[in-house]
Amino acid sequence: MSEAIVLGAGMVGVASALALQARGHQVVLVDRREPGRETSYGNAGIIQAEAMEPYAMPLGLGDLFAIAARRTNNVHWHLAALPGMARPLLAYLAHSFPARHRAASVIYSQLIRRATSDHAPLIEASGAGDLVSRDGFRQAYRSARRMDEAVKEAEHLRREYGVGVRVLTSDMLSAEEPALRKRLEGALHWTEAWSSSDPGGLVAAYADLFARRGGTLATGDAMSLARHGAAWRVMGDAGPIEAENVVVALGPWSPQLLARFGYPVPMLRKRGYHRHYRQTTPLRQPLMDTETGAVCSPMRIGLRIATGAELAAFDAAPTPRQLAFAERRVAELFDLGEPVEAEPWLGNRPCMPDMLPVVGRAPRDAGLWFHFGHGHQGFTLGPTTANLLAAQVDGERGEPLAESLAYRF
Ligand SMILES: Cc1cc2nc3c(=O)[nH]c(=O)nc-3n(C[C@H](O)[C@H](O)[C@H](O)COP(=O)(O)OP(=O)(O)OC[C@H]3O[C@@H](n4cnc5c(N)ncnc54)[C@H](O)[C@@H]3O)c2cc1C
Repeated sequence: MSEAIVLGAGMVGVASALALQARGHQVVLVDRREPGRETSYGNAGIIQAEAMEPYAMPLGLGDLFAIAARRTNNVHWHLAALPGMARPLLAYLAHSFPARHRAASVIYSQLIRRATSDHAPLIEASGAGDLVSRDGFRQAYRSARRMDEAVKEAEHLRREYGVGVRVLTSDMLSAEEPALRKRLEGALHWTEAWSSSDPGGLVAAYADLFARRGGTLATGDAMSLARHGAAWRVMGDAGPIEAENVVVALGPWSPQLLARFGYPVPMLRKRGYHRHYRQTTPLRQPLMDTETGAVCSPMRIGLRIATGAELAAFDAAPTPRQLAFAERRVAELFDLGEPVEAEPWLGNRPCMPDMLPVVGRAPRDAGLWFHFGHGHQGFTLGPTTANLLAAQVDGERGEPLAESLAYRF
């Protein structure tokens, strides 16, 4: 079998390396850092078995007004960044209308359905079972109106996709989550989701598994990628690495590299922040405080509060207003304790305007493969789309799901 280079050792790249290796390829996994230190480190850690429909742009006038007037903590935006994001933002808007969103959900739900069963063998083989809980997560509501709307939406997801969900009354929520010190209106408990107490650690465990199975981890700069005769070459710290196939799995950095090869990737990067707190009574499961758009996840090093989306230039200075707001409001719910870090973490969700990841061959360059754009659910979907990608590298055709994810811009 051919040699392959995978560029990027986040969840998506590590899973790509494992899936290719499982099919007999000799794989070199290249990153400029240790595996799992970027977006795949900083997320809320949920393997979202309930996320059958991708996040559309809200279209209700009330929601749009709240975003425009900065009256919601779910979305924040930098005015200066909007002109540069106009193309992917308008395309995202167009894909958020019901007919297109339904079409995307048909594809997305097929991926999501496979997610936990694609993680399971990797968790077991990597010995990372202690990093993963299979108890689901909760989405909590402070207002009766929002709770009623959410119950209707949950009913739709249960009917349409068979998603496992329990509706928790205020009493049930307080009884099931002793760390909660304020009564809330209620919550949805998504029972089939899994969560990790160390998302970066889980990626690192998968990368160790790849190495134990004979794969090579290398440090190097993906931006050095170039054609070298019939092969692809990238400069590793220990010298050049060459292979017939190269997979671009650079998450939010993928467009930078691909622009050099003439592929204009209209990625919408939605920033998110997190910080940990030395909570004394740990949460039993992750809990999303829907009013602040913050997900509170019990991590090994403390309670992680992760924020909603910020639209900003990729290199703009951090503006962690959403985190500051969430921190104040979440402190009403739990005894947070002192922050662990002096400064919040900042990362970018690599979102495609049609809400679907890009998985498949580069249209004009033999041996160049794309695997990025997993948006809000890359931690969930990495192993699933990796299996689709590896099948294509081996020349398998005919899976309609894979065809829907081919490069299309
Ligand atoms: C706040 C927040 C919360 C989230 N919560 C969830 C969640 O609960 N569940 C979920 O499923 N998803 C969640 N996500 C989304 C998820 O984290 C991402 O979709 C996923 O991590 C993307 O993985 P990736 O491997 O594509 O990218 P990354 O993890 O960013 O990996 C890209 C890799 O490329 C490397 N790289 C970049 N440039 C170079 C270069 N020039 N040379 C070499 N290497 C390079 C980086 O070092 C990095 O290791 C969340 C995201 C955020 C920001």
